[in-house]
Amino acid sequence: IAAVRASGLAKRYGAGDSRVVALAGVDVEFRRGEFTAIMGPSGSGKSTLMHCAAGLDRADEGTVWIGDTELTALRDDDALTRLRRDRVGFVFQAFNLLPTLTALENITLPFDLAGRKHDQETLDAVIAALNLQNRLHHRPSQLSGGQQQRVACARALVTRPEVVFADEPTGALDSAASAELLGFLRRSVDALGRTVAMVTHEPSAATYADRVLFLKDGCLVDEIHAPTADSVL
Ligand code: ADP
Ligand code: ADP
Repeated sequence: IAAVRASGLAKRYGAGDSRVVALAGVDVEFRRGEFTAIMGPSGSGKSTLMHCAAGLDRADEGTVWIGDTELTALRDDDALTRLRRDRVGFVFQAFNLLPTLTALENITLPFDLAGRKHDQETLDAVIAALNLQNRLHHRPSQLSGGQQQRVACARALVTRPEVVFADEPTGALDSAASAELLGFLRRSVDALGRTVAMVTHEPSAATYADRVLFLKDGCLVDEIHAPTADSVL
């Protein structure tokens, strides 16, 4: 079953001579419980694909389904915002935690924003999967980069979204912290059955995924299952 299904996604920027085709008609599915890495050279359309599939940006053409909801049919910005908030998780390179809140308050923030109560069982499972039990009352400034990114991952997972989009999640981490974060992300996919789509330019990060998609000039040009260090180079 697909958590996310996109077909014929096309996006252009600019006009005339400065016209850039960022996505040239991409079909992609992210299946439930699968960890997908998206690779490709700079400018190949990775961020655009992620933004259009997540409803952060509108594609010029094509359709996107998040679970049983057609994202591209939502004309109302409020409906799109709600869909993103309740059914999509995001992890960014720069962590994007609120500095005045504790780790636990950052993790449960999506529920505060939505005005509903978190599910304690899910919260406990996410905290355990990311080994954050002993960091819950620390503020971001009291945590290492790797720990801050684990908090950001917990925040993305705790609403049990259809999909978590991670944009270069290890981009600000050293190699030891990157490996640790990816191990936790891998374990949270396996233990919680979540769906993760991760943009990365690091082959060593892509080896944690079940599947690697390669973009070039706005097109999907290759797909590898069970990637190894050699096969993703
Ligand atoms: P990647 O994430 O693989 O580096 P992007 O999706 O960021 O690629 O960009 C794809 C292409 O679209 C690039 O040529 C980029 O310069 C162009 N592009 C992306 N965003 C914009 C924008 N806001 N305005 C103009 N061109 C853009
Ligand atoms: P889904 O939300 O995909 O429908 P299920 O309802 O089948 O998942 O739940 C699977 C089990 O995993 C439940 O017993 C739930 O308690 C447990 N679980 C705990 N935390 C999570 C989480 N973040 N995501 C998914 N399942 C979780």
